[in-house]
Amino acid sequence: LIQLAIPLNFIGFVYREIRQGLTDIEQMFDLLEVQAEVEDAPDAKPLRAGAGAIAFRDVHFAYDPARPILKGVSFEVPAGKTVAIVGPSGAGKSTLSRLLYRFYDVQQGSVTIDGQDVREVTQKSLRSAIGMVPQDTVLFNDTIGYNIRYGRPAATEEEVRAAADIAQISGFIDHLPGGFKAMVGERGLKLSGGEKQRVAIARTILKSPPILILDEATSALDTRTEQEIQTALDLVSKNRTTLVIAHRLSTVVGADEIIVLKDGLIAERGTHADLMRQTGLYASMWSRQREATEAEEHLKQVREAD
Ligand code: ATP
Repeated sequence: LIQLAIPLNFIGFVYREIRQGLTDIEQMFDLLEVQAEVEDAPDAKPLRAGAGAIAFRDVHFAYDPARPILKGVSFEVPAGKTVAIVGPSGAGKSTLSRLLYRFYDVQQGSVTIDGQDVREVTQKSLRSAIGMVPQDTVLFNDTIGYNIRYGRPAATEEEVRAAADIAQISGFIDHLPGGFKAMVGERGLKLSGGEKQRVAIARTILKSPPILILDEATSALDTRTEQEIQTALDLVSKNRTTLVIAHRLSTVVGADEIIVLKDGLIAERGTHADLMRQTGLYASMWSRQREATEAEEHLKQVREAD
């Protein structure tokens, strides 16, 4: 039916948009039954996901052969640990998460989970082992409860509520007319970026995958929302192998390792304290961010005084 109703070029357009934005691909695949560009190997086996140790080894990648994006990147995310990727805009941070989720294949090197190359396992098993909290979550035109339960359709009402509690979104839901039964999405209540992100976190809590990819929203959030999201993320990433694609430095301070990506290579790596001592790129990104925050606060004070 879908093939008849939607011209193929539209599907192509939608698919590119989805892939580009790292929106919730699982939902959209389900909705549109779009065939992914990357296919299962003929002898693909289900991923035997244990604790979910991730390894990128000498990864080279380009969307366009004339413009390499990753030029030999190697790092590991040990099982249960959190690694954050930071770096200038366009450095290839989100690309790393796309390679782990296998929207694309590496051109050289490998990406493995518990020792298994992501190209050799079925996409279905790979994607069920990974929870993705994308920059911008797609919401269904349905109740907010349904949107959370999507993470595990068999979940009970108590489980949905518990997930919403951990994701710091239940207080917001309780104030909606109808509570968990309130309609959201294009034809219902519009949620802010921060609220949608917390719905995505609640979904992921229900799905309970061993691996988590957090692709932080680039948009600025107010301090309280940012703190709530941070609390939710800390809770959901506890004891899970987590790759954070960080656009705001405040979220990476507690990471076990921070990788600074620049011009397709790892420029610096270490904990927050290590990198601040190095007074390199990471430290200068911090001082720039601090100056920007101070300037913003100053502006706010001036406006308030007027
Ligand atoms: P930001 O912090 O701005 O989100 P990033 O470090 O996450 O940036 P990526 O999204 O990984 O950057 O993109 C790396 C580079 O690859 C960018 O220059 C981008 O323009 C380019 N790129 C991303 N997606 C595609 C695509 N589908 N086709 C061609 N080029 C792409």
